[in-house]
Amino acid sequence: MSDYSKLADLLFPDVIETPEELMTKAFPPRELPPGAQVTRFAPSPTGFLHIGGVFASQAAERAAHLTGGVCILRIEDTDKKREMEDGVPIIVNGLSDFGIRFDEGVSADGSEKGDYGPYVQSRRKYYYHVFCKDLVSKGLAYPCFCSAEEIDEIRKAQEQKNVTPGYHGEYARCRGLTFDEIKRRIDAGESYVVRLRSPGKPGGRVKFRDVIRGDIEMEENFVDVVLLKSDGIPTYHFAHVVDDTLMRVTTVTRGEEWIASAPIHLQLFWLCGLKAPRYAHVPSIMKEEDGSRRKLSKRKDPEAAVSYFVDEGYPADAVCEYLLTIANSNFEDWRRQNKTESYKKFPFALNKMSPSGALFDLAKLNSVSSSVISLMTAREVYDAALKWAEKYDKDLYAALSSDEERALAIFSIDRGGAKPRKDIAKWNEVRSYVSYFYDVLFEGVYEELPLEKEDVKSVLREYLKVFDARDDKDTWFSKIRALCEPLGFCPDVKQYKADPSGFKGHVGDVSSCVRVAITGRKNTPDLHAVCAVLGQDAVVSRINKYLERI
Ligand code: GLU
Repeated sequence: MSDYSKLADLLFPDVIETPEELMTKAFPPRELPPGAQVTRFAPSPTGFLHIGGVFASQAAERAAHLTGGVCILRIEDTDKKREMEDGVPIIVNGLSDFGIRFDEGVSADGSEKGDYGPYVQSRRKYYYHVFCKDLVSKGLAYPCFCSAEEIDEIRKAQEQKNVTPGYHGEYARCRGLTFDEIKRRIDAGESYVVRLRSPGKPGGRVKFRDVIRGDIEMEENFVDVVLLKSDGIPTYHFAHVVDDTLMRVTTVTRGEEWIASAPIHLQLFWLCGLKAPRYAHVPSIMKEEDGSRRKLSKRKDPEAAVSYFVDEGYPADAVCEYLLTIANSNFEDWRRQNKTESYKKFPFALNKMSPSGALFDLAKLNSVSSSVISLMTAREVYDAALKWAEKYDKDLYAALSSDEERALAIFSIDRGGAKPRKDIAKWNEVRSYVSYFYDVLFEGVYEELPLEKEDVKSVLREYLKVFDARDDKDTWFSKIRALCEPLGFCPDVKQYKADPSGFKGHVGDVSSCVRVAITGRKNTPDLHAVCAVLGQDAVVSRINKYLERI
C-alpha cells in the first residue's frame, strides 16, 4: 500500500466507496431528452433574498424548463456564520412567490424531493469525503496543520516580498510532511484542514468558454486551496465540484463574482477526472446613480430585497417579466408580437444575456407592471389587490370586501378593450385609484380647474338638474353637450379649437367640472361608467359637497 493510500485511510476511515461507484450506482446519468439542461440555484440561507437571486434563479429555471431539463434548489449552508434561522423558508417561499419552480431540492420545511440529494450541503458530508479521499489517495490533496497565526505569518512574508498571497510553492509548509509525521500529529490531536496539492504554476494559463461571456482566459490556479475545513465541512470550491458532479448539473448559472475562482474549479474538475459543467456567469443587477452605475446594494437600496416588491404590491409576474426584459434584450420585441402570451413562452436564452451588468430601473418596472395589470381581468385585479390589502391596508381591504360586486364593477371600467388603461402599477396604488368610489377612502383633494368659479358652479348646478345614473352612455353625453351652449361653452372641441373666441371653454371643460367635482381629478377612467357605479345619491352628494367648498 502506498503512503498516499495509507494516508487516505487514516484521514477517512469511514469512506468505503469511490467517486466512480457513487456516480454509477447512486447518482447515474439522468435520462433526459437531447439538449436538456440541468441547472441549479444554490443560495446560502442568509435570510435575505436579493432581487439578483430572483434574476439568477429565473435564468436557471428558464434554461432548464425550456429545454426539457431539471432545475434544482440546493441550499449552501457550509458557512455557519452567515446562516439565519429562517434562512431556508425565506428563500424557498420568496422564490415560489415569484413563480420560480424547482423540480428537485429543498422545501420551506426543510424536506426534500428528488433522487440526487441530499440537497442541503450540511447533509452531504460523506460525499465530500468520498471525493477528498480519492484525491488524497492519488497524492493530490494533503492535510495541513498550520495555525491561523502561521497562515498570517506566511501572508505577511508574502506581502513583504510582493509575492502572490496564498498557500503555495515554498510557502506551503505542510506539503512535504511524511506519512509518519502526519500520523504522529493526528494521534496527538492536532487539528488540520485538507488542501489541494495544486499542480499549477504562476503564469500558467487556463481557458474556458462562458455561455454568456464567450471565451475567457485567466491565470491558472497554483494555490493549495483548502478543500475541507478542520470540521470536515467543504469550502465552496470543493462543494461546488462534488455537488454539481453528483447532481449531474450540466450548466452552472451563478453570479459573476465567481469568475475569479473559476480557475480553481476547472483545476479541481480536471484533477478529479471529471468533466466540468458549462458555466454561465450571470451579470450583477446594477443601478444608475448620478450618471454612473453601481451594484444594487443590500445596505443602500431597499429594492435590492425581494420583500420590497411584495410590500409595494408588484404582481410577481410583472417582476419576472421585467427581469426578462433586462435579461434578454429581444424580450420586448417578442412581447410586442405576443401581447397576451405568458412570459414563460418567451424563448429565453442564456447566451443572449448581456455580460455587462443588468441595469435595474424602477420606472421601467412600473411601466412593465402597469401593462401586465392592464391585461388582467377585473376578477384577477380584485383578488390580488384584496390579498395585498388584507396585509398592508386594512381600510382598503374593508372597502373592497364590503361589496365584491361593486368592486368588480369598478375594476371593470375601461378594462378588456383594445387599449386598456394603465393606471395601476402595483397594489399600493389601488387605494388612490379607487378612493373616490368610497367615501371612507376619498381624500377630498381637488385638482384645479382652469375656469372661473362662477362658471364651474353654473355647470354643476345645471348638471344636477339633468343627471340620471340610469342613463346610457349616449344619453349621458348628449346631456353634457346640451349644457354647453346655454352656459357659454362650445359643444364641439374642433370648432372651439378653430376659433375659441366667444366661448368660456368647450364640452371637455364641462365634463372636467363634473369629473373633478365627483372624483377630485381631471383624469379618470370613463366618467359615465364612474357615475353609473357611484349611483345617483353619491354623485349628487359629491357635487353638492364640491359646490359648498368652492
Ligand atoms: N452559495 C453561493 C452563493 O450564494 C452559490 C454560488 C453558486 O451558485 O455556485 O453565492
